[in-house]
Amino acid sequence: EAEVVDDSISFISNVSNANAGAELLKVDSVLMQFGGLKALNNVDLSIKRGTIHGLIGPNGSGKSTMMNVLTGIYVPTAGNVLYAGQSVVGKTSSDIALSGIARTFQNVQLFGEMTAIQNILVGLHHTFKSNMVEIALNLPRYKREEAEAHARAMALLKFVGLDDLANEEARNLPYGKQRLLEIARALALDPELLLLDEPAAGLTAPDIKELLRIIRKIRDSGITFILIEHHMDVVMSVCDTVSVLDFGQKIAEGKPAEVQADEKVIHAYLGT
Ligand code: ADP
Ligand code: MG
Repeated sequence: EAEVVDDSISFISNVSNANAGAELLKVDSVLMQFGGLKALNNVDLSIKRGTIHGLIGPNGSGKSTMMNVLTGIYVPTAGNVLYAGQSVVGKTSSDIALSGIARTFQNVQLFGEMTAIQNILVGLHHTFKSNMVEIALNLPRYKREEAEAHARAMALLKFVGLDDLANEEARNLPYGKQRLLEIARALALDPELLLLDEPAAGLTAPDIKELLRIIRKIRDSGITFILIEHHMDVVMSVCDTVSVLDFGQKIAEGKPAEVQADEKVIHAYLGT
């Protein structure tokens, strides 16, 4: 049995608060075209380290497309994305993930028949240095790495309050807990930037409260967020800044309260 560590964030090691406030991600004039449709039309974003940046807008406005561009699932038709000063355009999704950008999906994408802890261990696999022979023969380095990964996976589960459910199959977890498990799996990548696509969708009010508590706890560890969200109360309570998309274009940006009161934003949402 792996020892369960305390509820600290010490296992998130990739982040330094030294550069808080500096630009971590820059989206520069990104165009994403699908045939004749401009899903993103000349969008700029600047995400500062240590902040929670909301990305909102009506259905079909381009929010998930932006997340897919940032994580290498789509290559933009034009424009650039700089993460920590380096372009991510043309890099594979797994290289981008290893460079420090982790995400969750609008629709939960867990391995349903695997247990909660196995889902996290998948996310931790990149930390293994053992080769195939060491793994096949269960040699000492692999055994040590496996034990470390197990302890870290338990710490991550504890961090999101799922340690009691470590051995449950993911598909049997209540929906709100599946969403938290996805967040824990993303944290297994030791990210600097965490992208959450509608994490509160389909959650009950108590689930949302728990989600907010965990988002704040992750933020306190120095991780930067881009949060796509439909629940305005979630956006209002945790975001430092918000950008609003409508038909692929950025129509407003600023503090949550300013954006919520913006005529263009109100009009965009009324139109749907
Ligand atoms: P949102 O997340 O804001 O609801 P999306 O980014 O999912 O919106 O979609 C923006 C637009 O781009 C929609 O019109 C959608 O149908 C279109 N779109 C997204 N992905 C693709 C794709 N792979 N091929 C064609 N159209 C797409
Ligand atoms: Mg979407």
